[in-house]
Amino acid sequence: MEIFGHPEFDGHEQVIFGHHAASGLNAIIAIHNTDLGPALGGCRMWPYASEAEALTDVLRLARGMTYKSALAGLAYGGGKAVILGDPRKDKSEALFLAMGRLVESLGGRYTTAEDVGISVDDVEVMARVTKHVAGTRAAGAGDPSPSTAYGVLVGIRAAVAHKLGRNSLDGVRVAVQGAGHVGSHLCRLLDEAGARLTVSDIDDAAVMRVADEFGAEPVAPEAITGVAGEVFAPCALGAVIDDQTLERLQAPIVAGSANNQLAAPRHGVELMRRGVLYAPDYVINAGGVINISHEGPDYDKQAAVDHVGRIHDTLREIFGRAEAAGIPTSEAADRLAEERFTKASEAA
Ligand code: NAD
Repeated sequence: MEIFGHPEFDGHEQVIFGHHAASGLNAIIAIHNTDLGPALGGCRMWPYASEAEALTDVLRLARGMTYKSALAGLAYGGGKAVILGDPRKDKSEALFLAMGRLVESLGGRYTTAEDVGISVDDVEVMARVTKHVAGTRAAGAGDPSPSTAYGVLVGIRAAVAHKLGRNSLDGVRVAVQGAGHVGSHLCRLLDEAGARLTVSDIDDAAVMRVADEFGAEPVAPEAITGVAGEVFAPCALGAVIDDQTLERLQAPIVAGSANNQLAAPRHGVELMRRGVLYAPDYVINAGGVINISHEGPDYDKQAAVDHVGRIHDTLREIFGRAEAAGIPTSEAADRLAEERFTKASEAA
């Protein structure tokens, strides 16, 4: 298995393989870039089909965190951890203590947090042996979803202003895919802002809750991408913008919380070609990580909210640069992030 020649290897500073026989821990931590500060990124637990699949995932995710932190204006770099195992069967206190010791062994170069398959409880076990964790109850920032939803709201405002020249969401129709943690908070914020809502979820009860509370119009999961409105807000799955969705899409704006929304980079080009404004996922969904970056004994909620609100200006800058250069917004976002962390490494 190649590391330096791996297709997802992108100059990662460090890749650590951790093993602890007694607890059965097999884990990989990837530190992509620490030019802006120590690497921050969640720990994922997943029953990977192979070690190669786990390595691919951690390399890709760690790189993504560097870009996300750079554009969120955080003094953090990018990193990520994966534990190879089934979160439904393989969790134990010993496993998370061993993982905590592995994180601790890096002396603060990497800070971990929850991610897919890892709960706050698991992170709190790690926190017993390392202080390099974020997102614990004691740290004060709590559930990231309301902050993520607020970031998406200001991102939608930025997109609507740029694309439609409207400074209010009053009467703007937003089709929200997924009424989960982020989607339901987003529906509340949009409703307060006067938007009209259409919502879908594969969980009928979740849709009905949002429909009852905010007067959202429920539609079947397969219908949401074709809703005739101003904004399509993907808040469920990744890879939602693919060839099929492009054919159905009617909204001139795509702006939502889901990670990895483009099935392939060429779909970003295709959105641009069709005149659809795309708010790059890792920029618009950074509210949760921004909030976490403020946690600690001096946690100031208003300062965190103001920081999340700056997603608006970052997106306006990206939209402007993309238009001026004739490139997709996804590429403009990558370039702006690269400028930020490259500048930091040159200054060091
Ligand atoms: P969640 O699991 O609470 O909600 C996702 C919802 O999507 C669920 O209600 C699920 O039933 C629904 N869903 C699944 N497949 C669907 C489909 N085909 N059509 C419609 N609905 C479907 O997750 P969440 O925390 O709300 O996160 C939503 C998305 O935002 C994810 O992609 C996540 O990675 C991303 N994200 C979340 C945060 C956060 O703070 N929670 C931060 C950054 C990014």
